[in-house]
Amino acid sequence: MGKTTGFLEYERQTPSECAPLERIKNWNEFSVPMSEEKLREQGARCMDCGTPFCHVGRLLSGMASGCPLHNLIPEWNDMVYKGNWEVALRRLHKTNNFPEFTGRVCPSPCEGACTVGYHGKPVTIKSIERAIVDRGFEEGWIVPEPPQHRTGKRVAVVGSGPSGLACAAQLNKAGHSVTVYERADRIGGLLTYGIPNMKLDKQTVQRRVDLLAAEGITFVTRTEIGKDLSAADLKAEFDAVVLCGGSTKARDLPIEGRELRGIHQAMEFLTLNTKSLLDSELADGEYISAAGKDVVVIGGGDTGTDCVATSIRHGCNSVVQLEIMPQSPLTRQANNPWPEWPKVLKVDYGQQEAAALYEADPRRYLVSTKRFVGDDGGHVQELHTVRIEWQRDAQGRMIPVEVPGSEEVLKAQLVLLALGFTGPENTVLDQLGVDRDERSNAKAEFGKQATNVEAVFTAGDMRRGQSLVVWAINEGRQAAREVDRYLTGSSNLP
Ligand SMILES: Cc1cc2nc3c(=O)[nH]c(=O)nc-3n(C[C@H](O)[C@H](O)[C@H](O)COP(=O)(O)OP(=O)(O)OC[C@H]3O[C@@H](n4cnc5c(N)ncnc54)[C@H](O)[C@@H]3O)c2cc1C
Ligand code: SF4
Repeated sequence: MGKTTGFLEYERQTPSECAPLERIKNWNEFSVPMSEEKLREQGARCMDCGTPFCHVGRLLSGMASGCPLHNLIPEWNDMVYKGNWEVALRRLHKTNNFPEFTGRVCPSPCEGACTVGYHGKPVTIKSIERAIVDRGFEEGWIVPEPPQHRTGKRVAVVGSGPSGLACAAQLNKAGHSVTVYERADRIGGLLTYGIPNMKLDKQTVQRRVDLLAAEGITFVTRTEIGKDLSAADLKAEFDAVVLCGGSTKARDLPIEGRELRGIHQAMEFLTLNTKSLLDSELADGEYISAAGKDVVVIGGGDTGTDCVATSIRHGCNSVVQLEIMPQSPLTRQANNPWPEWPKVLKVDYGQQEAAALYEADPRRYLVSTKRFVGDDGGHVQELHTVRIEWQRDAQGRMIPVEVPGSEEVLKAQLVLLALGFTGPENTVLDQLGVDRDERSNAKAEFGKQATNVEAVFTAGDMRRGQSLVVWAINEGRQAAREVDRYLTGSSNLP
């Protein structure tokens, strides 16, 4: 596996990136591919560690440790080191239907669990994954592979995000006829209308969708199940239904002044931007522009970062990102040991860009917003904030306590709420009578994916709540296996 002494001979390297002040001029991906020689060296750093934790994919302290898809990482690292790219690609596709997505957007829990990372810097697993699949497309090794026979069974998948696409791909491989229903005008779920183009180019999503269509999957867009077609009719028409509708109910901030104009949910901002970009390169003006505005993003997570980067590309006047939690430490703490997910400060692309433009990281920690204040026209102008401290209450729970005298007023003509999601929408679940869990997600056991309703399965964020692309693919694959077993009595799907 790799070169026995590779991790002693070579330093970790990651792909270089187009400089922040250059890349903000456009909406293109900005990672610069590594040379073959460098990639082979990086593959060589994978040590023969005996028990690789990188592909375990278990929850440790509530976070993923290792790859949730159980990608055969040491094997393809070795193949890359030896230059066997096509074999590496086949091995990668065994566990991951869409490595071109995870190779771009996965936060790589695999690297947090890499054994080399126990003492030094982990293997550049994610970049190698991306290089393998990008090369596969360039070389023409990835072509449609329709199934040899059809079973005559018909399955409907509701929602075309990564869970729905992975489920459809696997069921199609098993010979079932799959129709994917999507209410948006384009396929891809949050791969298309969530993650911005500079992180995941939409042509990369469409290329895979075209491949799936060529393999025999039917895609129906602009059709909302529960509205345009009732869930009961859908269920009657198909042998099984898989619900992959995502976790789409955005958390709100119901404080004074919330009704003012200029305060939007992050998803409205990001979705409209990508749609206008794809429809007309923003020429149609059908998006919420941050140009010339002071922008405040409430929420320090990845969605907030995407709002920061998008606002910068519009040409905002300033951008601030507020976070209610404290700043993460720079290095692992004793209570967060390897191979747990490293809870350390991440300076993501949006923060790098803001720092290059405005000479400061846009994040402010331990800040709570008290109210919004508007002008006479009903448009937001200010946020009134206060600093908080986290303290334990009498029951031992952590609660935010305001710091007296720490009130501040921030200028803002555009406020973006990136506060996470509270669960899936109810319509389809109610129409079918699907039970919910205590967090209001569709209730189904992980790995079984079956709901309480006969022939109805679920996967992805709709079942597990707001999560990651890699978990969505994992769940979509598992749902496919369970549907196959339900329809035929057994399954060869992994
Ligand atoms: C802004 C943003 C950025 C993110 N960035 C990352 C990242 O960088 N890396 C990462 O790993 N994860 C990221 N995530 C999380 C990741 O995108 C999700 O975890 C993942 O997409 C969930 O996949 P899914 O298939 O379960 O649902 P989704 O991707 O949400 O797809 C659900 C689809 O179902 C459709 N739908 C819903 N109801 C119906 C209906 N009744 N009829 C028809 N269609 C319906 C929706 O329109 C949607 O297209 C991000 C999330 C957001 C919001
Ligand atoms: S899918 Fe994510 S966790 Fe798995 S190998 Fe790729 S980057 Fe690592």
